[in-house]
Amino acid sequence: MAERIPAALEEKFRSRLSFYQDIGIELFYRDRFPQQYASVTEEITLPKPAQKAQPAKATAPMSPAARKLDVLPVSPGVSLFEPMNKIAGDSLPKILADIGDCTRCKLHRGRTKLVFGDGNPKAELVFVGEGPGRDEDAQGLPFVGRAGKLLTQMIEAMGLQRKDVYICNVVKCRPPENRTPEKDEVETCSPFLLRQLDAIAPKVIVCLGSVAAQTLLQTNRGISHFRGEWLDFRGRKLLATYHPAYLLRNPGAKGEVWKDLQKVMAVLGLQVKKGSSAGAGQSTGKSS
Ligand code: SF4
Repeated sequence: MAERIPAALEEKFRSRLSFYQDIGIELFYRDRFPQQYASVTEEITLPKPAQKAQPAKATAPMSPAARKLDVLPVSPGVSLFEPMNKIAGDSLPKILADIGDCTRCKLHRGRTKLVFGDGNPKAELVFVGEGPGRDEDAQGLPFVGRAGKLLTQMIEAMGLQRKDVYICNVVKCRPPENRTPEKDEVETCSPFLLRQLDAIAPKVIVCLGSVAAQTLLQTNRGISHFRGEWLDFRGRKLLATYHPAYLLRNPGAKGEVWKDLQKVMAVLGLQVKKGSSAGAGQSTGKSS
């Protein structure tokens, strides 16, 4: 007979699941990240069946993109749940309504305006940053400060306008003093980002900086390990590059970012005008 879990733990699960239901996620892999349940399963330790040696299974060959993901270590505790399927009929307005006047994590305390995202809801290209800064918090729009101006130049150098792409962040409220969002904040807010990406269904996702990349790829590895490589994110092409704020501090890295953006342009069928470079805003290739 199955052992009943303690009431306090059951209540914990119940409230956690109802939170995820609130934000529109109803299906979960219960044992997808077993190591993350360690602290919980300690409290309900059940006798384990004796382990038998298993013969090695033949595995189907993986695509190069999937293989790259496969070698990235999963970060313990980045996200407990991953939605299994796209939520039928989901849309950006519905996600925004579900967020509402959000107080789900402590970042709400310091925000002026929640920064949901901006751009084309049917964009082929989505840029994902880390979180709003001071200017974004004041205006309620993503990437409108100095780093945002550089991102706009980069987008224009690709032959696009901001209105052609969609721009959003992992967390929707400004972390105090622009600090890096904490694990619990990312964990609480990132399901909304996953829903945004599913609703937009872009061809390419570009992660700006390590927080966005580590969140979507569920890895602890530094961005330098996979920057500029095509990776798979739930069947979509994902590429991570440096955050524009990093480029403001390290202008020498602009060339690397421009090479990354050229890879994105190739996939989207955009043309490079000779002499273009990230931050120069000189190219006017074909728009999507
Ligand atoms: S960061 Fe996200 S989860 Fe936290 S309060 Fe803002 S919208 Fe809610």
